[in-house]
Amino acid sequence: LTDARALELRADFPILSQQVHGKPLAYLDFGATAQRPQAVLDAELEFLTRHNSAVHRGAHELAALATGDFEEAREVVAEFVGADFDEIAWQAGATDALNTVANGIAAASRGRGGAASAPLRLGAGDEILITEAEHHANLVPWQELALATGATLRYVPVNDRGTWTIDDLRPLVTDRTRVIAFAHVSNVTGLIAPVAEIVELAASVGAITVLDACQSVPHRPVNFHELGVDFAAFSGHKMAGPNGIGVLYGRRERLEQLPPARTGGSMIEIVTMAETTFMAPPTRFEAGTQPVSQAVALAAACRYLSAIGMDAIRDHEEALGARMVAELNAIEGITVIGNDASVPRSGLAAFIVDGVHAHDVSQYLDAASIAVRAGHHCAQPLHRRLGVTASTRASSYLTTTNAEIDALLEAVSGIRSYFGADR
Ligand code: PMP
Repeated sequence: LTDARALELRADFPILSQQVHGKPLAYLDFGATAQRPQAVLDAELEFLTRHNSAVHRGAHELAALATGDFEEAREVVAEFVGADFDEIAWQAGATDALNTVANGIAAASRGRGGAASAPLRLGAGDEILITEAEHHANLVPWQELALATGATLRYVPVNDRGTWTIDDLRPLVTDRTRVIAFAHVSNVTGLIAPVAEIVELAASVGAITVLDACQSVPHRPVNFHELGVDFAAFSGHKMAGPNGIGVLYGRRERLEQLPPARTGGSMIEIVTMAETTFMAPPTRFEAGTQPVSQAVALAAACRYLSAIGMDAIRDHEEALGARMVAELNAIEGITVIGNDASVPRSGLAAFIVDGVHAHDVSQYLDAASIAVRAGHHCAQPLHRRLGVTASTRASSYLTTTNAEIDALLEAVSGIRSYFGADR
């Protein structure tokens, strides 16, 4: 995308045309939550205005229309990520989806799901492998699973730059490895994981792969069938779609093995006072009244992004990301986390300002109408390993222009002297 095109797209997002502190807003916090274009807002409002209803059960006209919209949304989202429609289960978000997998494996390990779930069963001595750079959403559920099953949680350590390679991961894969869970794109370092190599290693020991695709699906073309992962998770709100909805992808045979972690209405076949049989996937992972308007709006987001082109969005962000890394790092006293030419990176940059806390950095930038994120970005172990408690993260998307990066760089170059940290 050219800057002119990014500016044109920016006009699709009503929230971005606001002034903040009397100046045009440079929103560089897309990694936390993306904004929504008018087309997505309209799709949700249109649904709520004309078709809103609970899906699947009702025999009335609105229920039929809503069910049609809901299942069509599933097809659109499935196509967007290279999956079949029945491999897509709606969840509340990526966190929820990852919990569904971990808790489902815990249930399988207790014998739930019978013989069908046996391939997912974990016990003492089995190993779950993650990385030290994971978001807490892809770490804590695995800690809980290890506690519940007696399995051991192991992790790929990061180096001093916060990155890792397949050579760091390979020696940790053993014949006891049952699960390898990792972020496709790190929300702190931007590192793009070597998915194909990991899938191959996992296959060589019969482990399943779980991909945290939160920071990849919104920003680059992703095809789960081509990647060959067993499970994947992402959130609507990070991809120009709504909050309160996310997706669990599971390869059909894996979804069939996974017992439901949440039970209740809408996911059952036959209920007696003694016992219950569950529906087939993906419905058995969708207990309770579903987020229908959100599903419709998420499909609208997929259509919007596809029309622009995920290749173009990726190229645009990677160029901005490379610029941020190089130019931020060149400023005295600024260190970009994950600055490592030997690994591929996405379009975000988290950085440390010597002598200034990330919260002060982000307030200083806010005064210049630049919105960034400050904190540990739900990755405390990574920050601890790097000897800091927090960093500041700027993250781009399709509307981000070089002018916004210029503004960021200019503001960042003044921070240390403002706070007296250069003396
Ligand atoms: N994983 C990664 C890499 C993320 O960036 C996020 C969101 N910060 C999550 C998981 C969790 O997503 P959500 O909060 O939408 O459930």
